[in-house]
Amino acid sequence: MLKTASPHRLFFALTLPKTMQRRIVQWRADNFSPEAGHPIAAANLHLTLAFLGEVSAAKALILQQQAGRISQPGFDVTLDDIGHWPGSGVVWLGCKNPPRGLLQLAQLLRSQAARSGCYQSPLPFHPHVSLLRGATRPVAIPAKTANESFRASHFSLYESALVRGRTRYNIVQSWPLVSSERTSDGV
Ligand code: ATP
Ligand code: MG
Repeated sequence: MLKTASPHRLFFALTLPKTMQRRIVQWRADNFSPEAGHPIAAANLHLTLAFLGEVSAAKALILQQQAGRISQPGFDVTLDDIGHWPGSGVVWLGCKNPPRGLLQLAQLLRSQAARSGCYQSPLPFHPHVSLLRGATRPVAIPAKTANESFRASHFSLYESALVRGRTRYNIVQSWPLVSSERTSDGV
């Protein structure tokens, strides 16, 4: 629950397992020079599903209720793609073939957000985990990715806040990814 009524910067995302965050950070240190860009802290490595922007607590509550009605099974995410967007200065890990469940979940959250008045970019959704920021100059991209996989068994609403000049994410609420058939099996 959000504590104050003032707007909060919110987004829906998948959390990466802690062990995977650590392995990615190690792989990044081994594969990029320090000049390539600003490394994103291990705990902040995530995969955004829908960006909401500045949202009032009242609107957030509606979005949370809608998110709670989503019934979808979990899926496996393999980060086997890598790229650089010089315009936004981001080096990222992504999926060569994003699982359908991931695209469906993002599509649902993004359309719910749009219906609640949260602007959604018209650009196609490109699932990715940002690794470096401020990478506006050419970057030598390693030929191979960290090739990490994880099971997405829940998704979360995150708050993004600046704490002493650093971006911190806090999980506001999480929801399991399980289809209603399984729930009604009594599992
Ligand atoms: P910084 O404080 O350096 O901006 P950040 O980009 O990680 O750090 P936020 O800007 O709060 O923090 O963004 C949170 C998440 O939402 C990130 O995954 C970011 O890529 C994504 N995001 C931010 N702005 C947008 C946007 N306009 N459209 C889509 N996704 C966005
Ligand atoms: Mg940002």
